[in-house]
Amino acid sequence: MAEQWIYLNGDYVTKENAKVSVYDHGFLYGDGIFEGIRIYNGNIFKCKEHLDRLYDSARSIMLDIPLSYEDMQAALVETIRRNGLRDGYIRLIVSRGPGNLGLDPKRCPSAWVVIIVEQLAIYPEEAYRSGLVSVSVSQRRNIPDALNPKIKSLNYLNNILVKIQANLAGVGEAIMLNAQGYVAEGSSDNIFIIKQGVVYTPPCYIGALEGITRAAIMELCARLGYKLKEEPFTLHDVYVADEVFFTGTAAEVIAVREVDGRMIGKGEAGPITTHLLEEFRKIVDVDGVKVFA
Ligand code: PMP
Repeated sequence: MAEQWIYLNGDYVTKENAKVSVYDHGFLYGDGIFEGIRIYNGNIFKCKEHLDRLYDSARSIMLDIPLSYEDMQAALVETIRRNGLRDGYIRLIVSRGPGNLGLDPKRCPSAWVVIIVEQLAIYPEEAYRSGLVSVSVSQRRNIPDALNPKIKSLNYLNNILVKIQANLAGVGEAIMLNAQGYVAEGSSDNIFIIKQGVVYTPPCYIGALEGITRAAIMELCARLGYKLKEEPFTLHDVYVADEVFFTGTAAEVIAVREVDGRMIGKGEAGPITTHLLEEFRKIVDVDGVKVFA
């Protein structure tokens, strides 16, 4: 198998040599930010949107990214080239960097940048037709006043607690509510429901990441003429929806066929979800930054 190259603070190192300090504040405190990005047929899908979100997250938490926006994009392109991967997943991490054991970020003189590129397929193709079984979990979403979900931080314990509950229930993705009981999102995906031809997704202020796949689906809805409403909804609305789907960089657009024992629609991917997935797949290798000519 070809060697895997990882970008680490300006160097390209092998997987075995890609090591970070135990004093790194990303490791000690989850102090840092990240992006998950897809590459489809040599195209970094929505590259600008991911970099915009990364640099906005950095600004919000007063983290100085040691690379300019242009140099960061060049580093992404070069990491993909070196790995010779036309299709895969990119994990871009910027941590506060090594400091001392105290949590004070002032003790961390320079942020660390890591770029990992790998192959990815989280669901078999069949799951996109049959849909996932999902459950709601008791774990609530962090309140936005405490940690704004617009910041894609390394602090993922809230989401991991949801994933643990999903694992216990034997499902791939679960539904998390916010503190008021409104549907927020999955452990690492945004959620949409469809009722009588109208597509609904919760507004991010109630406690959801501003997902890039979510935004892409909202754009597609506008282009394809589906009415879209960004408004809070409850689990009841999910149970009685005609269609439910999750969106995420890794998951793409994945239908849900059952929630908490209630069958959704006909118990398979519904027509609008299927249409949106088809249209989404048409843009993934077009909309973005081309790595290979
Ligand atoms: N919500 C959370 C909590 C996430 O971590 C992610 C990213 N996997 C998403 C939603 C989906 O966002 P995106 O479409 O930008 O991947």
